[in-house]
Amino acid sequence: MSGTVIVGASQAGVQLAMSLRELGYTAPITMVGAEAYPPYQRPPLSKEFLTGTAGHESLSFRTAAFYADAGIELICGERVVDLALPADGRSGLARTATGRELAFDRLALTVGARPRRLTVPGSDLDGILYLRDVDDAQQLRTRLAGASRVVVVGGGFIGLEAAAVARAQDKDVTVVEAADRLIARAVAPVVSEFYRQAHERRGTTVLLSTAVAGFSGTDGAVTGVLLADGTELPADLVMVGVGVLPRTELAEQLGLECDGGIVVDAYARTSESSVVAAGDCTVLPHPLTGEGRVRLESVHNAVHQAAVAAATLVGAPAETRSVPWFWSNQGQLRLQIAGLSAGFDSFVVRGNTDDEKFSVLYYRDGELLAVDAVNNPVDYMVVRKALTQGVSIPADLAGDSSTPLKTLLAAAAVPG
Ligand SMILES: Cc1cc2nc3c(=O)[nH]c(=O)nc-3n(C[C@H](O)[C@H](O)[C@H](O)COP(=O)(O)OP(=O)(O)OC[C@H]3O[C@@H](n4cnc5c(N)ncnc54)[C@H](O)[C@@H]3O)c2cc1C
Repeated sequence: MSGTVIVGASQAGVQLAMSLRELGYTAPITMVGAEAYPPYQRPPLSKEFLTGTAGHESLSFRTAAFYADAGIELICGERVVDLALPADGRSGLARTATGRELAFDRLALTVGARPRRLTVPGSDLDGILYLRDVDDAQQLRTRLAGASRVVVVGGGFIGLEAAAVARAQDKDVTVVEAADRLIARAVAPVVSEFYRQAHERRGTTVLLSTAVAGFSGTDGAVTGVLLADGTELPADLVMVGVGVLPRTELAEQLGLECDGGIVVDAYARTSESSVVAAGDCTVLPHPLTGEGRVRLESVHNAVHQAAVAAATLVGAPAETRSVPWFWSNQGQLRLQIAGLSAGFDSFVVRGNTDDEKFSVLYYRDGELLAVDAVNNPVDYMVVRKALTQGVSIPADLAGDSSTPLKTLLAAAAVPG
């Protein structure tokens, strides 16, 4: 038996390997990662690592001894470039860029995503940085220390987290966002507007509906960001956070269905049912309703879907329903999200956004969909519990923030 090869050694890959062992899988497991380092957590890269309060070592998921003890062969610094599935009684084969060949009878793709890169003139100037891996973060941290004018292109979570770190270091910071509001893909306008005001209160300039047309530079280094209206923003450091592209190239090579990500079903099976995929590289059925397809870039999804994929590989399909959750720390602003608010038709704000402590509950047809909670872990936890239990909290009562949500949940959970 040639065992399982997991391509991609990060949040989803590590979970998949560990879950296989927890489920009693005893055949060899080989996990191959293109990065030079043992698997590590990414979320701190735009938070504690960037501020300098966490070092690289502290980000590792597990020690080398853990992988050895669990019988997980970890190959770092090698990219898989070619895959052939098992056929005619022969094992499948994964080949890395160095020519190493790894036989398998089960295959998991946990290859994640790469940052979307700008292609406007001047995009290759020195000082224009992206943030996906620890090398990116190290470079950003080092450059930030010597920078004075920082422009962040993209007002999504990672851009805003990096902007908060830069501003806390007293840099002159401007966030340029093409859409008419911040974090538009993930939160409602009321939350977007809160973040705009909160960042501006702290001295960051936020430009909305503003497109970047190019970059100016001297001696190969960036000196400014050229906006579509002709304005030039002086900059000695530019951080670009304009989303990611799922890595689908290996899946495409295998002829697997891809549609803005590797298409998987609720059991993490790709269109070739012997191959599973998990994490940022996938598009999956809505994790609560099963309807439509979503792409979730989150630790929770990577971990949950990887556990589901492992169960599928060992032939013991798992419970797939799971309440998505996410967090984003932007300086002192701690956002926690449970559920998916897409498709909401009404919402209720609990608390006052000016206090920087509030929550927004989203509804469709009167049914609770999700919560965005800012510095309000209590509301977050109650909504997450309600969604897990499949219980709605009436919108008309939730709007009264003097009533604890847990009281409303308890009342709603009682039948009749
Ligand atoms: C800066 C930053 C901050 C974040 N903050 C949060 C947060 O606050 N909360 C949250 O929930 N999520 C956050 N995320 C998202 C979260 O980290 C991702 O959802 C998670 O890492 C996805 O894990 P993954 O294993 O699917 O993919 P990835 O972490 O992208 O890992 C994929 C791995 O596969 C490797 N790989 C790709 N192709 C090959 C190949 N052909 N051969 C070998 N190896 C290959 C890659 O090099 C990479 O190491 C953040 C992400 C970033 C970058």
